[in-house]
Amino acid sequence: MRSAHAEHESQHAARMSGPVELLGLDRPRLAAFFDALGERRFRARQLMQWLHQRQVYDFAAMTDLSKGLRERLTRHATVTLPSVASALTAADGTRKWLVRLSDGHCVETVYIPEPKRGTLCISAQAGCPMGCAFCATGDGGFGRNLSAAEIVGQLHVASAQLPPGAVTNVVFMGMGEPLLNFDPVISAARVFMDDFGFVLSKRRVTISTCGVVRAIERMRNVTDVSLAVSLHAPNNALRDQLVPLNRKHPLERLLPACHAYIQDKPHRRITWEYVLLSGVNDADHHARELARLLQGIPSKVNLIPFNPYPGARFERPSVGRVRGFADALLERGVTATVRETRGEEIQGACGQLVGELQGARTSKMTALPM
Ligand code: SAH
Ligand code: SF4
Repeated sequence: MRSAHAEHESQHAARMSGPVELLGLDRPRLAAFFDALGERRFRARQLMQWLHQRQVYDFAAMTDLSKGLRERLTRHATVTLPSVASALTAADGTRKWLVRLSDGHCVETVYIPEPKRGTLCISAQAGCPMGCAFCATGDGGFGRNLSAAEIVGQLHVASAQLPPGAVTNVVFMGMGEPLLNFDPVISAARVFMDDFGFVLSKRRVTISTCGVVRAIERMRNVTDVSLAVSLHAPNNALRDQLVPLNRKHPLERLLPACHAYIQDKPHRRITWEYVLLSGVNDADHHARELARLLQGIPSKVNLIPFNPYPGARFERPSVGRVRGFADALLERGVTATVRETRGEEIQGACGQLVGELQGARTSKMTALPM
């Protein structure tokens, strides 16, 4: 006769279809998995520490779990890391990995070292369906959403090739629109912030979106990750041209949703990304209109001089114009920083992560003070 325990396990296992991928599960989901296995929910903490803090992926090596549990994990669970198709390092230390997913899709992950932090820029989708006018990812079309494991896996792949503690910040600014892949992105962000995961503070994990309003509204109830919003224009007429989603989710809906996200969170602000496109959105009157638009919302504007790519319809403004635009904002009390262009010869800039590995560009831009 079978033991009651074995009966219990087999009943629960029958409800699971195939081995469960554990790498992308946040703590509540992992606890639910152990529950379904007939185990105590706190096992989730132990397993997360093995995976994310010790980078041990083999259940057999997880010595504080009983032998029986390790065997059952081997039967009912799996941990899959994406593979690295190629790795590049730029002269300034920026690293770029082309990460291959199990079905052959590739996404890009970029590490940007700075004096006081190291930022990993990760992808949420293979390609992007949004079609922003200035974005190489959008031009390349849409492949598919990434699973939570494939998102978390990018941090594992990068960490394995960097010194311990090198990644202090994670930004969803690689390929794709994270808020079109809501649940996996939120689960991955929770793993990054979890005390038993990567222990990054909520200020150091940032989701960047082109403005999926309903998803921003949903975020309020499920996460307190930092929010960056790709604005790029101070009015609907211009934003409609640059970010097609604006025609469905215009500024008068987007801004209140963003403001509401930080409303009950003291000392939080929205980062507004603004790609500067020469002669399109970079005039002083645009800066003035932007300052008016953001009035009353705790804000920081991150100015990104356009990164040209083959076939692009836009040009990068001069260094002087970039500075002029930043000054026009600063004069009106709006905090503004200029994003330095990094890893240019490996096309390392977040937001223009095309999957090609040749065609290094030679143009260099003098870095502006942040
Ligand atoms: N889809 C999300 C996150 C990925 S894009 C979003 O749009 O926010 C990350 C950032 O890079 C966005 O602000 C995007 O507008 C910007 N970006 C895209 N293409 C760019 C380019 N060619 N030059 C400069 N920034 C670009
Ligand atoms: Fe997609 Fe962001 Fe590029 Fe727009 S800017 S096409 S949302 S990746």
